[in-house]
Amino acid sequence: MLAEIIVDVPSLNTDQPFTYGVSENFSFVKKGCRVVVPFGKGDRLVTGFVVGLKEEDVSEELKMIQEVLDFEPVLNDELLALSQFMQEKTFAFKITCLQTMLPNALKADYDKEFWPTEQISAEEMEIFQGQECLHLKEVNERGLLNQLIKWRDQKKIEIIYRVAQKSQPKTQRYVKNLLTAAEIKTQQNLQRKNATKRLALLEALLAVKEEEVSTQFFYQLGLDASILKQGAQSSWLSFIEKEVYRDPFANKNFPQTTPQVLTDEQQVAFTKIDDARKEKQAETFLLEGITGSGKTEVYLQVIQEALNNGQTALMLVPEIALTPQMVQRFKGRFGNLVAVLHSGLGQGERYDEWRKIQRGEASVVVGARSAVFAPLENLGVIIIDEEHETSYKQSDTPRYHARDLAQFRSQFHHCPLVLGSATPSLESRARAQKKVYQLLTLTKRPTQQALPTVEIIDLKDEFKKGNFSTFSTTLTEKIQQRLKKREQIVLMLNRRGFSSFVMCRTCGFVLPCPNCDISLTLHMDIKKMKCHYCGHEEPIPNRCPQCQSEKIRYYGTGTQKVETELAELFPEARILRMDVDTTRKKGAHEKILAQFAAHEADILLGTQMIAKGLDYPLVTLVGVLNADTALHLPDFRASEHTFQLLTQVAGRAGRGDLPGEVVIQSFNPEHYAIQLAQKQDYENFYQKEMNLRHLGGYPPYFYTVQVTASHKEEDVAAKTIFNFFTLLKENLTDQAIFIGPSPKAILRVNNQFYYQLLIKYKNEPNLAELLKQIQEKTLELAFKGVKVAIDVEPLQFM
Ligand code: ADP
Ligand code: ZN
Ligand code: ZN
Repeated sequence: MLAEIIVDVPSLNTDQPFTYGVSENFSFVKKGCRVVVPFGKGDRLVTGFVVGLKEEDVSEELKMIQEVLDFEPVLNDELLALSQFMQEKTFAFKITCLQTMLPNALKADYDKEFWPTEQISAEEMEIFQGQECLHLKEVNERGLLNQLIKWRDQKKIEIIYRVAQKSQPKTQRYVKNLLTAAEIKTQQNLQRKNATKRLALLEALLAVKEEEVSTQFFYQLGLDASILKQGAQSSWLSFIEKEVYRDPFANKNFPQTTPQVLTDEQQVAFTKIDDARKEKQAETFLLEGITGSGKTEVYLQVIQEALNNGQTALMLVPEIALTPQMVQRFKGRFGNLVAVLHSGLGQGERYDEWRKIQRGEASVVVGARSAVFAPLENLGVIIIDEEHETSYKQSDTPRYHARDLAQFRSQFHHCPLVLGSATPSLESRARAQKKVYQLLTLTKRPTQQALPTVEIIDLKDEFKKGNFSTFSTTLTEKIQQRLKKREQIVLMLNRRGFSSFVMCRTCGFVLPCPNCDISLTLHMDIKKMKCHYCGHEEPIPNRCPQCQSEKIRYYGTGTQKVETELAELFPEARILRMDVDTTRKKGAHEKILAQFAAHEADILLGTQMIAKGLDYPLVTLVGVLNADTALHLPDFRASEHTFQLLTQVAGRAGRGDLPGEVVIQSFNPEHYAIQLAQKQDYENFYQKEMNLRHLGGYPPYFYTVQVTASHKEEDVAAKTIFNFFTLLKENLTDQAIFIGPSPKAILRVNNQFYYQLLIKYKNEPNLAELLKQIQEKTLELAFKGVKVAIDVEPLQFM
């Protein structure tokens, strides 16, 4: 047999499969398994993925597979095809795409153990030579692999992967009684009277009958490991190793939740989606519903239908929305059928969840971005909640967007894809406008909860009144009221765009670029104001060019400072702080939220990470301390992100019976993103923003690609980008628009200089080929220390 293998040498020369021979010993190898093969002149051993097999004779000069790492494919045909699709979309190397799809634990070294099952005969047991299991090394040395794989297929053997380090499957030892009751009686008569332990063991085995019981059972009877071992030597019993999963939610109680009677709007959405599922249509739906309008309830009921029909379901949520509350809703509805994948899991826990999915034991997967690779079969529905979130795009190579990959899987399984959001990305909403997606809307809350009232405070006025604190008079008063009533408060300090621009505290003026419609960015490293798009620079102003005030300075404050300020203002308040510093430890995030849920604190102060998914009935006041910081980022999506964030965070107030109130503090209260967020008016925001995008020539009217080059010498990075610019300029149509080449907003990171080029286009048939050429050059450039990144539809411009 011959195998086509993608080897782990990421460079274009190795981006197509190589053919290797498969010896008799490895004839069990399957497509989607990882193998070890010799590569290159020195026959260096590298790992690779089998992507094809051919029944052909092995010729003399062919190199042979040295080892097979997986006995079951780790990637099935669908996922192999998905990796191909991802490669075409992202211009990454094939091997990088393949590896991205696996849980980290599988990338580490691991051993395999071969354990007998009950099906094995006494004769066949001899292969174990008295050992309880065999290790891979020995199996290879004794040439038993093929034999054992056959037995595995006949269920006589179980293979357990032991990942080096922490990620071993956890096992629990069980005892199987090998004697009948009559045989036990005989044995009892054969024992000496003073062999109390042995007699007690026989007594215990009599009680056990045919059940497999954990060794714990015997330990409790005072029968220790050594007597059990004696029992095994006398062939009274055998040991069985059973795998147990590490379940991060094992000791938690999930109250059963029952389906709600859907509202009319929910019913329409549910029926449309479920019909597509029944009719096996790969349709994409955009479920646009205000916060608290019952989107999640619709997801849950569609998933229920899929499960009832023997299908599986995949639900993606942003990492930070994977709160205990979200998990609880899913576990509460579907119990152990749910596997949860998020970065808070240890490598081992994640691996266990992945295996549960692969073995078909979990049929609902809830997870963050990379859960899009969950090896689910027979998908009935895919859901992406909060579809506008930028965390669905991976920022490192392969720079895939989970939405694109989910679309591929939806096509493959002929199942619907649901994109849900209160504030859809303009791209998705525009596609719904063009009927590429089917738009479903939820405009009301099913509960009697009214939307919170939102008040906007102009911080410029506060300054005029001489209040230089982080808290406006209004917000201070409202916090005071809640504390008195023992209600809870959520305060958000927006860290996005933190202290990166200069603003006049008297008139709110922000320094614009004379050539572009974008504000200048503060570069403390070179002490200058700089335009991210055209490269224009000027000195940091001492005086406001508009009102001459001297109170112009960089804007920003930290959560820690705000916490101190809060403690001084409200000495009686119990405060919890949630930011990158307080959530670094595993489980810290959950702990803070649990404390807040248990009303062990009055105020939860945090960064954007508190904006999502929280649903606490006692929260009646939400304060946004600084709504504008993100508005002035050199990013054409700045308004969109601000609108989304404010709408999300406002949705946290008044989730229970008590009415909610929101206070937004801002230096730009008249900005449309803030005004429309106040009304939770997505549709008008969409219209307004689309107009601006049209005028500026930005997505969704144009597609974009960003090429970045970095090097420790500035002119090398710049020259590289200029070369690409020339190549593209000469070969694209004159419809393509170039922004740059220009230095990145943060020019130097870790002593590397970054230059970038943004291409905006509508229809460029040559572009994919040109980007491939650029990708090919990256190899040669990498030798010179130049790093090149191609980002299709970039979401980050900093
Ligand atoms: P969203 O996902 O849009 O924010 P949720 O699904 O979380 O909305 O619903 C908000 C609240 O309304 C939840 O407490 C949920 O239990 C409740 N809810 C949802 N649908 C219904 C319904 N049909 N009848 C009654 N309550 C509902
Ligand atoms: Zn001013
Ligand atoms: Zn400019």
